[in-house]
Amino acid sequence: MENKTLWAPWRIGYIIGLDKENKDCFFCHYLAHPEADEENHVLWRTDHCLAVLNRYPYNNGHMLVAPKRHVEDLSDLSDVELLEMMRLVDNVKTCLRACMQPHGYNVGINLGRIGGAGLPGHLHTHLVPRWRGDTNFMSVCAGTDVISQSMAELLALLRKTSQELGLPDLKVRS
Ligand SMILES: [Zn+2]
Repeated sequence: MENKTLWAPWRIGYIIGLDKENKDCFFCHYLAHPEADEENHVLWRTDHCLAVLNRYPYNNGHMLVAPKRHVEDLSDLSDVELLEMMRLVDNVKTCLRACMQPHGYNVGINLGRIGGAGLPGHLHTHLVPRWRGDTNFMSVCAGTDVISQSMAELLALLRKTSQELGLPDLKVRS
């Protein structure tokens, strides 16, 4: 039987996209540049994860916790990574509670672009602190929230608070 060449030019966009996606990934960029942690608003780096302030927050104190590996699905994570990510989410919550006293939190993971992920290639967990009345006329009418504190100030406050509280605390509990 004659060999036929499989001609699939549409795949080149996908292949280029794969490469581009990783280079354009801000988590991977942050990971590669620890010297810029301050300007990238990186709060913590742990063995397998990092916690950063979201540059495009829904609310003041909106944090992202991501595994260090550029993977897109929960099923790609090891148990150690999965546990560390959730421990960090809880640690971030403890830290926010100590310095900002939120009344509640939204914790969530958007999987895939259709699921709302702005960066679908690199899995991350959102933690958004909430206060009574924070869905006010500004967010409803102007479609935007008023972020009253600068991110640099907030990062400094969170760093100071986490130092006082001994966070991140990743001790294994049983
Ligand atoms: Zn990445």
